[in-house]
Amino acid sequence: MKVTELLRFARERGEPIFSFEFFPPKTEEGVRQLYETVEALRPLGPAFVSVTYGAGGSTRQRTLELVTRLKRETEVEAMAHVTCVGASREEIAAVLDEVAAAGVQNVLALRGDPPRGAKDFQPHPDGFRYASELVAFIRSQPERWRFCIGAGAYPEGHPETPDLVRDLANLKAKVDAGVDFLVTQLFFDNQAHFRFVDRARAAGIGVPILPGIMPFTNVDQAERFTAMCGAVIPQPLRAAMAARRDDPDGALQLGVAYASLQCAELLRRGVPGIHFYTLNRSPSSRAIVAALRASEPWRQGG
Ligand code: FAD
Repeated sequence: MKVTELLRFARERGEPIFSFEFFPPKTEEGVRQLYETVEALRPLGPAFVSVTYGAGGSTRQRTLELVTRLKRETEVEAMAHVTCVGASREEIAAVLDEVAAAGVQNVLALRGDPPRGAKDFQPHPDGFRYASELVAFIRSQPERWRFCIGAGAYPEGHPETPDLVRDLANLKAKVDAGVDFLVTQLFFDNQAHFRFVDRARAAGIGVPILPGIMPFTNVDQAERFTAMCGAVIPQPLRAAMAARRDDPDGALQLGVAYASLQCAELLRRGVPGIHFYTLNRSPSSRAIVAALRASEPWRQGG
């Protein structure tokens, strides 16, 4: 089922959706564990799971295998991430054909990051420079590809475009090329998300925006991710993290508790769902969704 339909059904029931992002494990054992994880998530009613596409297109084959197997062998809906890194149009078309042939109806159309070591994104000579071009390419062949298309959004701005006005104009152009819904980069400051949604709506971006939340499991990892993606760690959280740098259990608990509070506020304020960056460690997101389902903050308004 398409994510837009999942969102519509959830809205009719007055509920949000929860989705979970995984990266393709390197080993068969890792894949087996991932299956167990997806099965363990099922009682929580995940709307869909998504599978990332490694930097530089490095996991392309594993992404395709995993997403097609998940679609075939589990009852949870799947979404394939697809990037433009190092690939010609023809190669991207072949990837899209494979995703479509597996019955996967949702793709997250991304430009991708430069491969490790490279500073700037260099498009393939016969490829795409921006995600908007990939979106337009998919939409240019509506009979061949009938995907529901998601795309990335950056509440605190994409690191390459610090000017928020320009970044938003670029996002608007991407959505106008045929995006059905947006998933945000991770953030720790809900106010940044609310401001972003207000600015997006004022700019005429009407598609659903799913906030991306990462329950961090250790301090170094959280700092590494935020440094990479440009998300800001608010000062009180930074201090709480610093106090737990050498306390792995304390850091993990802080990550779960902080993300729970973030999600509760977002849902109270009416976001259509939450997309969890699980880093393939689902216990934290499972605990958070279980608590959210038990407390239903979306019924509390606010
Ligand atoms: P774009 O939308 O193309 O934007 C990239 C930059 O170009 C922005 O600064 C934008 O403002 C600017 N820009 C866009 N259009 C124009 C224009 N016409 N003129 C000038 N500037 C322009 N990466 C992976 O490698 N694999 C993954 O699986 C993956 N999953 C992700 C999932 C989510 C939910 C998100 C938010 C990101 C994910 N990423 C992934 C990271 C993503 O690839 C990077 O953030 C990348 O740097 C930008 O991708 P994009 O699709 O947002 O690019």
